[in-house]
Amino acid sequence: MKNNNLRPLSEEQINALPKLDPTSDRFRICPNCKIQFMTNHLSRDFCNDKCADDYYNKHRRLTKQATVIVEENKMMKPHQEVLATSSSPPTNNDLEKNIQILDQLKINPEKGSFFSQEELNSLGFNFFANSGTGKVPDNDPACHYVSFAQYRIFRIGISILLIKLNN
Ligand SMILES: [Zn+2]
Repeated sequence: MKNNNLRPLSEEQINALPKLDPTSDRFRICPNCKIQFMTNHLSRDFCNDKCADDYYNKHRRLTKQATVIVEENKMMKPHQEVLATSSSPPTNNDLEKNIQILDQLKINPEKGSFFSQEELNSLGFNFFANSGTGKVPDNDPACHYVSFAQYRIFRIGISILLIKLNN
């Protein structure tokens, strides 16, 4: 795996990034992955282009199920395989792959460590392949988390994730 040199974000990097502010007009909850984030453009509602695509693909599927299945079969060319995979439901293999990625990160066992979402995405991490979501009281604003086996991922900024071990 190529993620051996993925290091947690430094304190400077974290402080330089905007924090979640639910009272701001830039605060959004992504309609696709339900993650909270601050948008750069007021016209944007999705956390990234992939989520926007996935969301529209899903909705198109609901209205044109049969047509879409045919279209997806046509899409199964090698260079489009990534796109086709990303819009299909996550499997246990995807969850196992996520856990393998998390296992290789250097996570502080007590406090957890911060990572950027882009870096995790670049390793092929799939947020939809999770083992559930939850909420921790008195940990505002990062009180919602997505769990991946023993790992909990909190979003604390546009692209900053706090990854903790649930001991
Ligand atoms: Zn999203």
